[in-house]
Amino acid sequence: MNVMRSAVTISTTGHGDAHSNVEHSNLKNSDDKDTEKRINKLKKSLKNRYPSQLDYIEAYIVKDLPVIYAVTPTYTRWTQKADLTRLAQTLLHVPNLHWIVVEDAERKTPLVTKFLKYSGLQYTHLNSKTDANYKLKADDPNWLLPRGVAQRNVGLSWIRKNVPPSTSGVLYLMDDDNTYSLKLFEEMRTIATAAVWPVGLTGGLKFEGPGSCSGGKVLSWYTAWKPERPFPIDMAGFAVNLKLFFQHKNAEFSNKVPRGYLESHFLTSLDLTRDDVEGKVEDCSEILVWHTRTEKATLKQEAKLISMGNPSNPDIEV
Ligand code: UDP
Ligand code: MN
Repeated sequence: MNVMRSAVTISTTGHGDAHSNVEHSNLKNSDDKDTEKRINKLKKSLKNRYPSQLDYIEAYIVKDLPVIYAVTPTYTRWTQKADLTRLAQTLLHVPNLHWIVVEDAERKTPLVTKFLKYSGLQYTHLNSKTDANYKLKADDPNWLLPRGVAQRNVGLSWIRKNVPPSTSGVLYLMDDDNTYSLKLFEEMRTIATAAVWPVGLTGGLKFEGPGSCSGGKVLSWYTAWKPERPFPIDMAGFAVNLKLFFQHKNAEFSNKVPRGYLESHFLTSLDLTRDDVEGKVEDCSEILVWHTRTEKATLKQEAKLISMGNPSNPDIEV
């Protein structure tokens, strides 16, 4: 899979910033036509080189699959690299996915910069620091303020500026510490407008979101907390077609909404109601994403050793 992934990261059109390698199907001018020829040649040589992977190459590289644009906010803490490693290594198995990683930081950090460079993924690296008024303090409970809002919005703006509106694809918001099944990505790739599915281990429940669906219609919602929300669903429980996103130029996330309304605010800013969203994943009966959370690493003994003048090697990045 890894070998194939590097095959689809070939930069084609020069859209976007220096870190971004986006493939687009609507190539127009003569430079683009040359590029297209080069890509076709590469596809041919891939097929020759990896005959045992013919099916994979045919399905995912030759047949221009819709692109998944995944936006992930991330911030510095001891478990960041572990979380990003787990997520990136899932994404390596997903063809035609463009990962937009947005650091909650004044500047892009060396850790994330290096991590992405060697990730083997198609990515765009951005940053935006959360305003101090909206930033959680170390000892605050995490529900006190919404998290990742500015970062998701920067990711959305990047898509609006850099992705041609005719691109066939979907938008998915991915937190850096959830657990994602590969099957989910193939479910979301073909969403017509907007779709939802249940998310495991969230809302204080086994799962939250659509509770029962039939033929794509959501029949009931399973939720206990603020069930009156327009969409009682976690961020990981929906994806939207790019076309719908581009049609709603002001659709974005907001810090100024009541607790639990981040997702509802975004989905209603796309003019969606509960009746408009398709219920996916075996009629909403299978859990393919879990709202897992990584235990905070406090490193008390490390602090003790530092105070005793015996710190660990500062060159070792964790
Ligand atoms: N996040 C961020 N800045 C912060 C806290 C969180 O960018 O100060 C990111 C985090 O990396 C994750 C998303 O926002 O991708 C949601 O945060 P978290 O996972 O902590 O929230 P929870 O899942 O616990 O609700
Ligand atoms: Mn999380």
